[in-house]
Amino acid sequence: MRIHDVMVTLRPDMPTWPGEQGPRVEPLKRIARGDSANVSLVTFGDHTGTHVDPPVHFVEGAKAVDELPVEALVGPCRVVAYDEDDPISAKWLAAAGIPRGTERVLFRTKNSELWRAPHPFNEDFIALDETAAHWLVEAGVKLVGIDYLSIEPFGSGKIGHPVHVTLLRAQVVIIEGLDLHAVSPGEYEIFCGPLKIAGGTGSPARVLLVER
Ligand SMILES: [Zn+2]
Repeated sequence: MRIHDVMVTLRPDMPTWPGEQGPRVEPLKRIARGDSANVSLVTFGDHTGTHVDPPVHFVEGAKAVDELPVEALVGPCRVVAYDEDDPISAKWLAAAGIPRGTERVLFRTKNSELWRAPHPFNEDFIALDETAAHWLVEAGVKLVGIDYLSIEPFGSGKIGHPVHVTLLRAQVVIIEGLDLHAVSPGEYEIFCGPLKIAGGTGSPARVLLVER
């Protein structure tokens, strides 16, 4: 059984959304200092690296990360390769050969290479357009993932984040920040484990893909 770990490693100098600092690890106890154990205080934004967006991220009063349906987070999952430069659209999805009944889809784009780039953040990442979000909801998809820090193009705030809002209103779980560079397109079993933070507006998640 081959397992792909597609979570980006949390580290202080990792690419983060503009204005957010990377994770910090501060020592609370250190054996080297005479303490009985090694214990650290870890601080990070809840949308750092590979992470889950729960509905409350864009829909006030909606479900938080501790209330996500675990059934959406585990199960069969299709990795789809997208090699173009435009946002992913409904038109493209309709022609992509995604089998009917697919409930979990991850898009592997050229974004996955950005995790190894020297830049702290790249605005020109590949994402979904609004038509793609509607297509996924209508197709019955329960979980959708992308390999950079947003599911929709940079600057979508000025038009009200329609991709996030469409998916999250429909209770579709969004995973952002996946590293899929070593994963081939095809069928896998996914395990996605966001932290169970009470009222959490997001959470980094260990995401594993098991080859079937
Ligand atoms: Zn997010």
